[in-house]
Amino acid sequence: MAGVRVHAFHGGGEIADMSVFDPFHPEVGTKVEIPYFFYVVSHPNGNILFDTGGHPSLINDPRARLGEAADAFEVTMEEGDDVVSQLEGAGFAPSDIDHVVLSHLHYDHAGGIEFFPGSTFYAQRRELEFAHWPPVYQREIYLPADFDHPVEWVEVEGELDLFDDGRIMLFPTPGHTAGHQSMLVRLDGGRSLILVADAAYLPRNIEENVLPGIVWNPDAMVSSWQRIRQLQRRNNADLIFTHDLEWPQKTLVAPEHCYE
Ligand SMILES: [Zn+2]
Repeated sequence: MAGVRVHAFHGGGEIADMSVFDPFHPEVGTKVEIPYFFYVVSHPNGNILFDTGGHPSLINDPRARLGEAADAFEVTMEEGDDVVSQLEGAGFAPSDIDHVVLSHLHYDHAGGIEFFPGSTFYAQRRELEFAHWPPVYQREIYLPADFDHPVEWVEVEGELDLFDDGRIMLFPTPGHTAGHQSMLVRLDGGRSLILVADAAYLPRNIEENVLPGIVWNPDAMVSSWQRIRQLQRRNNADLIFTHDLEWPQKTLVAPEHCYE
C-alpha cells in the first residue's frame, strides 16, 4: 500500500529560558524561541492530525487564556499560526481531518481541539485523567478551556495500531506528563518517523540522558527514551521533536515540503 505522507506545520512558538530544556545547561538565563509544531499524516484510510498547537486567542491576548503562566512563557504566535489557518495553507479543511491524536493536553498542543468537532480524538486514558486533575506544579499549563469540548474521545490504554496495518502506531511515552504518547509512522519505502512530541524536547535529552525542566516522573521519562530508541532502531526511524530548536535547519515544513 502506498501513500503515507507527513506534513509538519509550524504554529508559532514562545520565548522561554534555556532551563526548560536543561536546568543545568551552561546557557541557563538565555532566552530562546521555542517552536510549536503539529502534523498531518495522510493515509489512504484518512487524515490524522497529531497535536493542534496553541489556541488562536494566544495571538492577541495570551494572558486572558493563560493567566499568570503568560509571564513565564511569552507566546510568539502570530496571525496565521493557528492550526486552522496552517492546515488551510496546505489545502486541508477541518472536515478533512478524520482523526486527531493528542500527545498530551498542555496548552501548546491541545489549543485547537474545538476546531475539529467532527473528528475522533485519541489520548491515553491516563492523560485525560491527569489533565482534568493535574498536580499543582502542572496546573497552569493544562487549560480546561482547551479540552472541555463535546468531541468524541477514544481513551487509549497502551499501544494502538490506528488502522491495523502497522503504518501508524501510538505508544505511551510517559515522563513529561503521566499520559504522554508518541506516534510511529511508517512511510513508503522502508523509512519511518517517530513524532516524539514532548517525550524529549531535544535530541540531546535522549542521546545524553539529560532531564529537561518540566518533568512529571524522571524514571518514566528515561524508560520512554529507551522505548523510543528501540522503535527507532527496529523501524529505521528519524525522530521529530516538536520543540526542536534546530527546526529551521532540520524540519521539512509544510506546505512547501513533506515527509514521504
Ligand atoms: Zn509542548
